[in-house]
Amino acid sequence: MKTCTLFEKRPVLSFEVFPPKSTTPVESIYRTIDELKDLKPDFISVTYGAGGSSNNATIDICEAIKTKYGIEAAAHLPCINLTRQRASEELERLKAAGIENVLALRGDINPDVEPKHEFEHASELVEFIKENSDLNVLGACYPETHPESENMIDEIKHLKMKVDAGCSQLITQLFFDNEDFYQFYEKTRIAGIDVPIEAGIMPVTNTKQIKRMVAITHAKLPKKFVRIMEKYENDPVALRDAGIAYAVSQIVDLIANDVDGIHLYTMNNPYIADKICSAVGTLFSAGE
Ligand code: FAD
Repeated sequence: MKTCTLFEKRPVLSFEVFPPKSTTPVESIYRTIDELKDLKPDFISVTYGAGGSSNNATIDICEAIKTKYGIEAAAHLPCINLTRQRASEELERLKAAGIENVLALRGDINPDVEPKHEFEHASELVEFIKENSDLNVLGACYPETHPESENMIDEIKHLKMKVDAGCSQLITQLFFDNEDFYQFYEKTRIAGIDVPIEAGIMPVTNTKQIKRMVAITHAKLPKKFVRIMEKYENDPVALRDAGIAYAVSQIVDLIANDVDGIHLYTMNNPYIADKICSAVGTLFSAGE
């Protein structure tokens, strides 16, 4: 199933998982999905390292999500280190695995890896996928602007190009202040971007993780969020619970404001996903 059709029933709930590191047995991801499946997400997306090496795990995991667990899957595909030949091969692999959805990404620039320069922006990959396959294409977007963007006007202009190239749904970068999302959403509609946008929610559960995420995404931390983190920084259980409660409060507010969908960055942690879904699960079907 093409995940863009899921938005006829709103709001959509999706999860993101990542393939285990090479030092961890690959089976560990299936134990994670075993637990996540009971939370009944509409689809699960699987990340893909931008390093450009032949990464079999993403597509294999997507295939298992679809065939073994009966849940729709979306494979991430960053293009910065792909040649067009490699991109064609990945499309062939997706087709052979029966995957119908791909999240087309540029990928983060690694100063130690010279990009292939065959795709400069995600919109070029979107165009390539639409020309060479029947896949449903998802894209990423940034309510606080992408760290490389000079301003929101450029950000929205480039996002419109990505959607016009064939993206049928978008997922946001994580954010902690819903007002940033609402303002961004409104700007997309003014710009004529009319595809569904899922809000990316990351439950923050330890201080190390927050620092890493903020360094990568440049996400703004609202005062009330910082106060919670400071109060509980030396109490891991209380910090975890406060992080879950914060994510729940974001989701309740987003659903009350008719968000198209929630994309939960699960960090491969079913306990946290379970706590969040137990708190807000009924809201996804309320009012249907
Ligand atoms: P783009 O859409 O190409 O945008 C990147 C920057 O270029 C932006 O500043 C944009 O405004 C600008 N830009 C776009 N088009 C043009 C143009 N024509 N001219 C000039 N400037 C332009 N990374 C991974 O490596 N693997 C993953 O699995 C992964 N999953 C992700 C999932 C989500 C939901 C999100 C939000 C991000 C994910 N990322 C992943 C990170 C992503 O690869 C980085 O944020 C990357 O820096 C940008 O990717 P993009 O697809 O948004 O790029």
